[in-house]
Amino acid sequence: MPMPAPPKRACSRYSATGTLCTTPTARADGWCGVCDGYTVRAPREETERRQRWHWGPGPWHPAPLGLETDEAYEIEIHPHVVRDYSSHHTVPPKTAVVQIRSLLEDLITSGAPTEADVRGRRRIYLPQGGYGLMLSQDRGTVVRYCTRHAERTWAQYRGGVHSRISTPNRGTAWQRAALAEHLPVKVTATALHGYTRHVLGTKITRGNIDDIARRLAAHLNEYVLPKWDRTADVTLADGQGSTWVLAVDDRSPEGVVVANYATGVRTEE
Ligand SMILES: [Zn+2]
Repeated sequence: MPMPAPPKRACSRYSATGTLCTTPTARADGWCGVCDGYTVRAPREETERRQRWHWGPGPWHPAPLGLETDEAYEIEIHPHVVRDYSSHHTVPPKTAVVQIRSLLEDLITSGAPTEADVRGRRRIYLPQGGYGLMLSQDRGTVVRYCTRHAERTWAQYRGGVHSRISTPNRGTAWQRAALAEHLPVKVTATALHGYTRHVLGTKITRGNIDDIARRLAAHLNEYVLPKWDRTADVTLADGQGSTWVLAVDDRSPEGVVVANYATGVRTEE
């Protein structure tokens, strides 16, 4: 009897500009694999998520892993690893399990370095890629997930998805400083660049950043923020020719200005 095709559901991930994807997908992790695949609309603060590259004390010395690729689908995954992965990448536990197994399989297939510590625990990791897993001494359980990446999963990284946290999304330090000084909400570099290009018709330099930040603050305060009660993510037309993507989450209750699009529609009263 032929296997029934897995049911499709709408992809629920976001593009780099914060647009919700709805492409049908049958993938177990719920990602269509075509869009950027971000699990949250706007990136979180870097400091909260960066650096989970903790392997324990070591030292580590080269040692075979002793696992075949198909064993990636039989091995136990410790519940704290599932929790850790889930919260780091903002995915449900079931998705976390699928992705951890897929990472392990890819690491084994790619011949990633494997090492053992004095207790016989193994680690397999991509030193350049910044993803790795630690296995128990008997190699029957995944006991740790390590990543250098603040928001991208291995599947996204492998697919060439760029981080929104590094440039250009966060902008340079001097851009962030100017924004922080003048604006009551967080503004991504995508939104800053969109506003500067679409509304002001210019480019950002060190010389004009203060002026741009001041004008952006005035624009948001007059046309955008009063229309938004900050209870939900919205896409909002400002009546001045721009549409704005605005987001709130637990970490940014004051809101994040995610993106600016030129729509050319003016509804000047
Ligand atoms: Zn998608």
